[in-house]
Amino acid sequence: MRALTFLARRFVAGETAKEAIEAVKKLNKKGLRASLDFLGEDTENEAQAAAAADEYCRLLAGIKSAGVDANVSLKLTQFGLNLGADVARRCLYRVLEEAKRHGNFVRVDMEGSVWTTATIDMVLEAHAKYGNVGTVLQAMLRRTPADAARLSKAGVRVRLCKGAYKEPAELAYPRKEDVNAAYDAVAKDLLASGTFPAFATHDDPRIAEVQAEARRKGISADKYEFQMLYGLRAKRWAELAAAGYGFRVYVPYGTHWFPYFSRRLRERKENIFFIVRSIFKG
Ligand SMILES: Cc1cc2nc3c(=O)[nH]c(=O)nc-3n(C[C@H](O)[C@H](O)[C@H](O)COP(=O)(O)OP(=O)(O)OC[C@H]3O[C@@H](n4cnc5c(N)ncnc54)[C@H](O)[C@@H]3O)c2cc1C
Repeated sequence: MRALTFLARRFVAGETAKEAIEAVKKLNKKGLRASLDFLGEDTENEAQAAAAADEYCRLLAGIKSAGVDANVSLKLTQFGLNLGADVARRCLYRVLEEAKRHGNFVRVDMEGSVWTTATIDMVLEAHAKYGNVGTVLQAMLRRTPADAARLSKAGVRVRLCKGAYKEPAELAYPRKEDVNAAYDAVAKDLLASGTFPAFATHDDPRIAEVQAEARRKGISADKYEFQMLYGLRAKRWAELAAAGYGFRVYVPYGTHWFPYFSRRLRERKENIFFIVRSIFKG
């Protein structure tokens, strides 16, 4: 377990908000923005959900007092969506109020497809009340173009990713090429009618498609941003920022890192090679 903890540190900025904010300071110095994620999902009881919301409120205050350029990303099952929508809504609204007090923004991550409708509905409701909240869509899901249209119409900011959860073929494209084509199509829609869309991917052809479409439509680089995960492709972050693109790094922290870490390993064999190399190097 201790070896795993050591290895997970490639993807996780530390166990505490203080450590994570230190990591953000280093990113900001390189012209990179951040989104801080206090790791957690599938909360078991209301007390845990409330504790996660407390942590986010402290985090937002910490971001403000450190003067760093960062917003926050959270998961609704961490706030008890699995226990009932009311539990999650109470926690989310508390965090949105705190974010509003500090002039900050909250991104609601997207989880497995059983939560898609509930997440979008809650974000739309919260957006109408507070404004400072956006969410994430997964290109792999067949429903995503319709969800993108609905969120864009309401002016809700969308982060587009491919999708990290295993989904059945009735709901999601099983083939990578289809997911890529879906990503490019939704990216075009978001550039045309979204509000400050974020393109979250480590995949260069996807990034190039966004850049080409923005050029074709005369959309300037301050109207959208690119995002990647902490620990993956740091050289590319710097290149994109130096080329004048807005760039945000997703920075997770906390002790509940195992599910997040497992998804990163499942996605890419190089991540596993990294682990193996680290083990052999001692
Ligand atoms: C900021 C951010 C937020 C996210 N939020 C969510 C969320 O809320 N919900 C969700 O389901 N998923 C989320 N994800 C995860 C996402 O859905 C994907 O699972 C993950 O990003 C992998 O997909 P990819 O687009 O990077 O492309 P992949 O198909 O994994 O990779 C495509 C190509 O990218 C390049 N590449 C990838 N990794 C590396 C590397 N380490 N070094 C060099 N090249 C590499 C390679 O060329 C590779 O072939 C998020 C991802 C990011 C970046």
